[in-house]
Amino acid sequence: MDTQIFAPKPTSPEGPWDTIIIGSGPAGFTAAIYTTRGAASTLILGGEVWGGQLMLTTTVDNFPGFPEGVLGPKLMEDMRIQAQRFGAQFQEVSVESVDLTKKPFEITAGGKTYQSRSIIITTGALTAWLTAPGVRELIGKGVSSCAPCDAPFFKDKTVAVVGGGDSAMEEASVLTKYASEVTIIHRREEFRASAAMQEKVKSDPKIKILWNTEVEEAVGSGKLEKLILKNNKTGQTSELIVDGLFVAIGHKPDSDIFAGKLERDEKGYIEYKTDHCGTSVKGVFAAGDVVDKRYKQAVVSAGMGCIAAMEALKYLEEEG
Ligand code: NAP
Repeated sequence: MDTQIFAPKPTSPEGPWDTIIIGSGPAGFTAAIYTTRGAASTLILGGEVWGGQLMLTTTVDNFPGFPEGVLGPKLMEDMRIQAQRFGAQFQEVSVESVDLTKKPFEITAGGKTYQSRSIIITTGALTAWLTAPGVRELIGKGVSSCAPCDAPFFKDKTVAVVGGGDSAMEEASVLTKYASEVTIIHRREEFRASAAMQEKVKSDPKIKILWNTEVEEAVGSGKLEKLILKNNKTGQTSELIVDGLFVAIGHKPDSDIFAGKLERDEKGYIEYKTDHCGTSVKGVFAAGDVVDKRYKQAVVSAGMGCIAAMEALKYLEEEG
């Protein structure tokens, strides 16, 4: 492979950098590919566990350019190599705090303080998982949080979806294209999803709904075999034999370190301008699941990472 380094490095590893990218999912690496190719010195603070949610998936079939699909971790590894090929520096450290009142901005990570003229936040979102025993252990072995990614693995199989919001409705609808039967398990007796999405689910003959029901345990050795359920009105427990469990109880944007420093909405999504990914602080951009309330797809995150990077380059040029 050709080594093509476009981006300079500052004299000190602590900066000042032209851009520091916080986070290392598809938005972060795409942003880095663009900032480095724009000759901006770029440091990615990728987190102690780098790569984002795609590191938790198996085959990704909906990222363009991979007709046979690609393993999520392999896709992220390749994005990382691509960004580093153009000169992006990478640190596997988690950001502890930021000071956005100083210029250059200051970021503390892994006990060191880094300076940067611009910041691109791509910290993503954390899946909210059920805390019932067995659920976390069986992730990737029947338990998933992404029907568009994993539904094809459940062709003619039985699956359950937990949740009562739009995500759960959407997961259930996607799953009906493959699974023989989809059971939605919801802890109350009404959904919080939009009327249209509820209607779609309720009128689908492949979908059954269990109201007032909670997952007590996911059982399986090596792969998911069944769920132990509890009706929270009657206290009665039951078993549901399933091949798959899709957890759709919401996501939490990973933005707590920016509390009080950037405008966020009530759920923690960073407020941003959709046309240029700018946040409430000039020179700080945000992209991907930390701002995206709706799509939460790798390809959308990558596109937003590109926008944020191009706008960061424009900002750096304007600021001289
Ligand atoms: P959400 O609206 O917050 O719904 C989460 C659901 O999970 C709720 O029904 C909640 O139950 C349930 N839940 C939460 N914690 C639980 C637990 N520990 N055990 C069992 N159930 C639990 O999240 P979302 O569905 O991911 O949607 C997030 C946002 O994205 C929403 O604004 C939504 O409209 C939007 N969205 C839009 C679309 C679309 O328009 N196509 C698609 C997906 C998402 P309760 O109802 O009892 O609280």
